[in-house]
Amino acid sequence: MSAAAPFEAAAWTPEDERIPVSALEHYAYCARQCALIHVDETFDENVFTVRGTEAHERVDIPGSELIAGVRSERALPIWSDRLGLIGKADLVEFHGEGVLPVEYKVGRRRHGGRFRPEDLQLCAQALCLEEMLGVPVPRGAVFYWTTRRRHAVELTAELRAATEAAVVAVREQFASQRLPPAPDDARCTHCSLNVSCLPSVVAARDRLRGLQGALFQVFDAAVPDDGGRR
Ligand code: SF4
Repeated sequence: MSAAAPFEAAAWTPEDERIPVSALEHYAYCARQCALIHVDETFDENVFTVRGTEAHERVDIPGSELIAGVRSERALPIWSDRLGLIGKADLVEFHGEGVLPVEYKVGRRRHGGRFRPEDLQLCAQALCLEEMLGVPVPRGAVFYWTTRRRHAVELTAELRAATEAAVVAVREQFASQRLPPAPDDARCTHCSLNVSCLPSVVAARDRLRGLQGALFQVFDAAVPDDGGRR
């Protein structure tokens, strides 16, 4: 997983109201990871976050350049008053025909569920840019550092709806200040928070609680099927 930018990783408080755009990717990957980073301010380095920092080196320093008629803005601050979002876009290209946000990710594009976490983050950036600039942003791109490939992402109505739903879910999660259960699945292998989260221990504890609850459940086999009516 990519590392959250330091200013985006600060703990969220109800007074903030605004959701960091990066939180959407964290939430889509694992709700517990999102809460650990943005509510508990947990941040651990592992090989993937170090690679993520390397992948972002080119786009972490604000600046702009004009090449072949395309203006590129790096580390561009973005926000949406409508959705209550704030963050920054790694790279935004201003082509003659429109605006193209480009999100940088370490690794390669993986097969995933219906919407990949990075696509939700990209879509949130596009929604911010549309509101800020008053222009449609129909597509964006994700650049994968490992393969050095740029993958075009169409910002469909379904992806936009999923992104807005994720904003609502993250806001509810932050307001509750609760730490979701650990899924303890394949995602945990590459998660930088594995040591702080201890997913197998937490999941085992939850399983144990369930077993304890079942242990003291009264099961009265003498009650007939008719609910006791005779
Ligand atoms: S270790 Fe697993 S459960 Fe814990 S935050 Fe990471 S992905 Fe989520």
